Amino acid sequence: MIIAIDGPAASGKGTLARRVADAMDYAYLDTGLLYRATGAKVLASNADPEDETAAVGAAKNLSADDLQGEELRSEEVGTAASKVAAIPRVREVLLDFQRSLATTPPGGKHGAVLDGRDIGTVVCPEAPIKFYLTASVEERANRRFKQLQEKNPAAIYERVLKELEERDARDSARDVAPLTMAKDAIHIDTDRLNANAVFDAVMAHIRTHMGEDD
Ligand code: C5P
Repeated sequence: MIIAIDGPAASGKGTLARRVADAMDYAYLDTGLLYRATGAKVLASNADPEDETAAVGAAKNLSADDLQGEELRSEEVGTAASKVAAIPRVREVLLDFQRSLATTPPGGKHGAVLDGRDIGTVVCPEAPIKFYLTASVEERANRRFKQLQEKNPAAIYERVLKELEERDARDSARDVAPLTMAKDAIHIDTDRLNANAVFDAVMAHIRTHMGEDD
């Protein structure tokens, strides 16, 4: 069983996907982390995230250690991630790992939950259950801003909003695997729903689907 959860930055898909994986006892892969780790590696080598050779080299050399660390969550790394993610060869290099985790989940699990931008469209178009989360950019900026403010009281809302708008534009406009909803995905607008309500709605869909499959 593969469950695909896609959506724009800060749409709440990470928290949701982790909860769904726990509830189902499935493996979980945050695919954004692969692009973030690639972007961070390029930045660490003082190269430009838009430099294809540097970005492809970083993607090929990712290790498990590269996927750890709070600094991967920064907006700076998020921006670098979306730049390396627009390079077709980088996406190709990262594709096999994502597909094999989805089709052969580690630890003998019976399924996997993947979240990202192109899981339902490119990585696992065959996934029987797909969700596409959205929320207005202002609402997403608000949520991200509140998280940031807990760590850094000097965080600026306008800056968070601008970074999200730029990332949305880059992720949606790129030629390969742009952010787009799969035709067979269930769309959930989370503007007026809290995380628990989104989780309950998603689990209800999954249970209905599993029941139908029996
Ligand atoms: O989801 P997250 O914000 O961690 O993703 C960081 C960046 O990685 C995104 O802005 C996007 O450009 C890229 N990404 C992608 N495809 C995915 C997951 C993330 O292009 N499946």
